[in-house]
Amino acid sequence: MKYYWHIMAFAFLPFLSMYSQAFLNNIVKEEKSNFERFNKSLNINYPGDSTIDVTYYKLNIALNYDAKYLNGDVTISFKSESSNLTSFFLDLQNTMTVDSVRMNGNRINFAQQAGQAKLEINLPSAMGLNQEESIDVFYGGSPASSDFGSFTFGRDDAGGKTIATLSEPYGASDWWPCKDTPADKADSSDVWMTVENGLTAVSNGKLMEVVDNGNGTHTFKWKNSYPIAQYLISMAIANYIKYNNYYKYSSTDSMLISNYIWQNSYNSSTTYLLDLVPGMMKIFSDRFGPYPFLKEKYGNAQFSFPGGMEHQTITSLGAYSDGVLVHELAHQWFGDKVTCKTWHDVWLNEGFATYCQDIYFEDKDGRQYYNIYINSQMSSAKRDTIHSVYVNDISSFENIFNSATSYAKGAIVLHMLRGIVGDSTFYNILKTYNNDPGFAYNSATTAEFQSIAESVSGLDLNYFFKEWVYGVSYPVYSYNWNYIYTGNDIYQITLNIQQQQRRHPQFFKMPVQINIETNSADTTVTVFNDKLQQQFDISVKGIPLQVTFDPGNLILKDLIVTGIANEKSVPHKFQLEQNYPNPFNPATVINYYIPHITKVKLTITDELGRVVKTLVDKEQTAGQYSVPFNAKDLASGIYFYTLDTEKFSQTKKMIFLK
Ligand SMILES: [Zn+2]
Repeated sequence: MKYYWHIMAFAFLPFLSMYSQAFLNNIVKEEKSNFERFNKSLNINYPGDSTIDVTYYKLNIALNYDAKYLNGDVTISFKSESSNLTSFFLDLQNTMTVDSVRMNGNRINFAQQAGQAKLEINLPSAMGLNQEESIDVFYGGSPASSDFGSFTFGRDDAGGKTIATLSEPYGASDWWPCKDTPADKADSSDVWMTVENGLTAVSNGKLMEVVDNGNGTHTFKWKNSYPIAQYLISMAIANYIKYNNYYKYSSTDSMLISNYIWQNSYNSSTTYLLDLVPGMMKIFSDRFGPYPFLKEKYGNAQFSFPGGMEHQTITSLGAYSDGVLVHELAHQWFGDKVTCKTWHDVWLNEGFATYCQDIYFEDKDGRQYYNIYINSQMSSAKRDTIHSVYVNDISSFENIFNSATSYAKGAIVLHMLRGIVGDSTFYNILKTYNNDPGFAYNSATTAEFQSIAESVSGLDLNYFFKEWVYGVSYPVYSYNWNYIYTGNDIYQITLNIQQQQRRHPQFFKMPVQINIETNSADTTVTVFNDKLQQQFDISVKGIPLQVTFDPGNLILKDLIVTGIANEKSVPHKFQLEQNYPNPFNPATVINYYIPHITKVKLTITDELGRVVKTLVDKEQTAGQYSVPFNAKDLASGIYFYTLDTEKFSQTKKMIFLK
């Protein structure tokens, strides 16, 4: 799902400039009122009844727009997970009233308890382990709309009637009886919707039949043959204009992309954006494997929520933008094909879909656009230093859909993982995860994704997940560096990295890329920073000019560059250093610093004060200088070297030992 909080972070980008600030403000206002609408989270018994395993849902629902009322017959097929199952419950809000429950055509006992969002079912006889049964729940009512707007009787942009659902995370039970957890997918589902003439009703999978009931209503019968989570079952109803497109996945095969557009939204700019979808699909198919629901379809059905929701095979779309389109499409792989097993793990949906936007824009527009998105998501991620990406408290949908953590920081976790393992291993991890027989068309946890990442990369990534997914905040680094000459044009850099102490974790262990620019080469090395304060020695060829910390911006961080001897600094005073090595035979190096342009003389004298060699005698600019001295023609003994400038003179002793 994507709602406009996230998009606002990217509002400065040129391709989103079509949205005016006033428009965005209105959307936020509207969303806030949605938040205040109905908070029933305290009543949630999560996650569902573990004594049953749902295998099939069929929703046969008649909708009366004018009465704001629905009548339903929901078929639920399930297996017993218990050796002696005598009763179980389904999740259903009390605003919906159950008339009867039938099994094999016979009425069976049920109860809706006041104050509990549960439908208790009492079985006529006990079921054994793995025994399968099917029940029908006949019910009706005016659904209350919770969270993002789980059930909405609304109006389209021409004032026409619309009905739309958005059940994530806890809203399915507002309008139909189900096992309200993403951990238990049904193997398949049907959604039949009876609506007044003139409305088109859209849902998951394929449209099998439209029946004219002869009484002013039509019934639209949709069939989905893939495993599906309860919150991805949807209804989108309006007087739509249908706009078809095709995804050609081979030279001979193509799949239908059906778009359902409101009357006043059907124009060349919306169809232009919708026509981008096949290209997006190709990019993701190449990276993660074929579009997961190739036997059926993809599509977008307009609704009034300001963003989008990735209903399986049919995104509900409330904002025409390439960012929303690509985000929801990516969810078909990460969210719908592999679904987060619990809402604690929602970043496996949202962080992944957000990062897929970055992948898409990198592929389409180049790395510089990728970097713009990453910078923007890093800024968003830094706004929340209290909550972890892994959602500890899932009692409210605001916690679950935290834009800073579940979306932005979740995406940055993948960006950083890619930085650690490299591009090809990274895409191999995502593809392996998405196609793993245990997770594909099923669900996964953070720990399971970690184990895939570790087995594919061959790396122990426990530190990484612990600090970035389960921990909070981000590191604040400071660093400085200096160097000495060690001979043969080789310089040894001493790099000090320090982190500000945090709470959870106390500091971040990370491989850090360091770029070193010298007068003869440009090198990037990786150091593994695993201490609060740490020193690294790095040898390079040529005089070091600049040392850059994390040049590729692969780490979410703040960076404090400290004053002395850092990045190519101009010395603030004259300084003559002890030669190195000392004693020496026969070569050594003399380092000195000059704060401004001046005449410089560097001479070697013997114990009697006689000049035996002049190493430098010229005007020099501000900077650090390293001058080699070879004594192979001289006798062993004590020598002195003197730096003479217009305003500064200093002499030091050295020992030549043959
Ligand atoms: Zn999303």
